[in-house]
Amino acid sequence: MNEPQMPSCQNVSDALSDYLEGYLSDRSRISLEQHLEMCPLCLVYLDHFRQIYHVTGKPEPEQLPEDFTDVMGKVIRAWREEQDSGNQPDAD
Ligand SMILES: [Zn+2]
Repeated sequence: MNEPQMPSCQNVSDALSDYLEGYLSDRSRISLEQHLEMCPLCLVYLDHFRQIYHVTGKPEPEQLPEDFTDVMGKVIRAWREEQDSGNQPDAD
């Protein structure tokens, strides 16, 4: 048990608005960016989040287009599938 202190995908998604607004501490920002380097799914999340930010300036949940929720649903589903398959041996 020697896991690095890496934020989970949930931590990252929770922190993205602070990250984009520059509210995160250097330490939090660095660990978040390290997670992003290793996690394409969170990168997709960030990319969509950024687009919403650009459009609305402030992404209140009510302001998010339905498409955003749909995309995020797919991302979250992919996360779960990755976690589920992560415990199984590679069958290929
Ligand atoms: Zn992630």
